Amino acid sequence: MDRLIKALAYDGGVRLYCASTSELVSHALKIHGMSPTATGALGRFLTAGALMGAMLKNDDDRLTLIMKGDGPLGNMVVCSDKNAITKGYAQNPLAEMPLNTLGKLDIGGVVGHNGMMTIIKDIGLKEPYSGSVQIVSGEIGEECAKYFTESEQIPSAVALGVLLNNKGEVPFAGGYILQLMPDVNGAVIDMIEGRIQNMKPFTSLLKEGFSLEEILKAVTGDDNLVVLEEIKPEFRCDCSRKKMEAAIKALTPEEKKEIIEKEGCIEIKCSFCGKVEKWYE
Ligand SMILES: [Zn+2]
Repeated sequence: MDRLIKALAYDGGVRLYCASTSELVSHALKIHGMSPTATGALGRFLTAGALMGAMLKNDDDRLTLIMKGDGPLGNMVVCSDKNAITKGYAQNPLAEMPLNTLGKLDIGGVVGHNGMMTIIKDIGLKEPYSGSVQIVSGEIGEECAKYFTESEQIPSAVALGVLLNNKGEVPFAGGYILQLMPDVNGAVIDMIEGRIQNMKPFTSLLKEGFSLEEILKAVTGDDNLVVLEEIKPEFRCDCSRKKMEAAIKALTPEEKKEIIEKEGCIEIKCSFCGKVEKWYE
């Protein structure tokens, strides 16, 4: 079962968010019918969205992540909230690349090595907060870590993984975000950096049966870390016929009539969940 935990290590000096997301990513794969590499890319981006959504404070706060790379995948969009209720899509879900030189899914290749990643936080202020970073590697975890460090000035490490089996299923997915608070001791930082470099991939640890708590203890070296909260990340779309109707209201009666005469009906498909609604008049 998917889980997301929030924890503190070293008396609050290190803030942690860690999740398993195989059900969430499998749901996205089912509704979007993605290629393996697109699943690897969107699965990581959805996991990042769930983890970052869990950082929000209020029920109405919303987070949107947009990855606009120049690779064959096109744009990816993910939305999430404080309960890690997450939705997302990739523009070209069938985009595929050969495996990279390490024999792994070429996530950077399918996303692209040029472009922008933008994060928009709507927290009820007049203008939503928005921060962007230039895409360099196209590796989602690296780009997210750079966003926190450059745009929010919080030194962070981000690990994300999606494991596909030979049937094209996603038995393991997940990741963590580790953030250093200003008062954390330099020796602790050095130790954590060393541990992260020597860690196996996140999904390998899940596959070996490690719990999220055990993974965070291994990453930080703090056996006394405190879990503050646990939530269940989930793929869920909040679209409705009523919300879609707003797009139709923008049409003039003549435009509506013309589409219905030509196509038989007005059809709107939700990019996030694939749901189709039709209007005949
Ligand atoms: Zn939808």
